[in-house]
Amino acid sequence: MKAAPAAQKRLLDLAELDSVIDRLAHRRRTLPELAEIDDLSARVARLATQVIAAETEAGDLAREQAKAESDVDSVRVRAERDQKRLDSGQVTSPKDLASLQSEITSLNRRQSDLEEVVLEIMERREAADEQVTKLAAERDRLAGLRADAEDRRDAAFAEIDKENTEVKGKRGTVAAEIPADLLSLYEKLREQFGVGAAMLQGTRCLGCRTSLSIAEINRIKAASHDEVLRCEECRRILVRTPESGL
Ligand SMILES: [Zn+2]
Repeated sequence: MKAAPAAQKRLLDLAELDSVIDRLAHRRRTLPELAEIDDLSARVARLATQVIAAETEAGDLAREQAKAESDVDSVRVRAERDQKRLDSGQVTSPKDLASLQSEITSLNRRQSDLEEVVLEIMERREAADEQVTKLAAERDRLAGLRADAEDRRDAAFAEIDKENTEVKGKRGTVAAEIPADLLSLYEKLREQFGVGAAMLQGTRCLGCRTSLSIAEINRIKAASHDEVLRCEECRRILVRTPESGL
């Protein structure tokens, strides 16, 4: 393949712009905010599950408390009813009176036991409610940090994308100056190696950093200036410039 030396040199500008595009893509993929957001999302999700579990427990305890309070009420109502009968003077038999009195005593004891149960449930419920509040606050705090990280990510994306658009614009201009066959070879090599063209500096290919053999150097020296050369080591297009010293 043959191409004017100026067109060949434009390949180096193109390669430079492509490496900027690659760096921008790499920066976009590896933004620290992305890992931060992933980590925070996992923690928020874990806390959301814990909040639901704590809320379920608090709800169960609320129902348990209502049930225990209703037990206290029914015992209290029975004790009050018995007490009324006792106070009414309608029960006169000593045996019935003793039995009634004993039932009241037993109901009072039962009520006091049940009231202790209610207190114990209330304490557990209070702890569960506190746990819900604590976990929900931590979940919201981390969700806030995640929103901050998302803002920073979006700002970085916008900056990268803006730069990318600019570089791609320049690339379009440079690419338009390169003959189609040379450009297509470059694109093919870029796809294969990441970089499609490299400068020959002294006797070294700057693409693979290999020094060329004397035979190869002699061949290059003998080649016409519009001959498109390839590095024998990395197969990239090897571009001669005044710095090549050949
Ligand atoms: Zn090379």
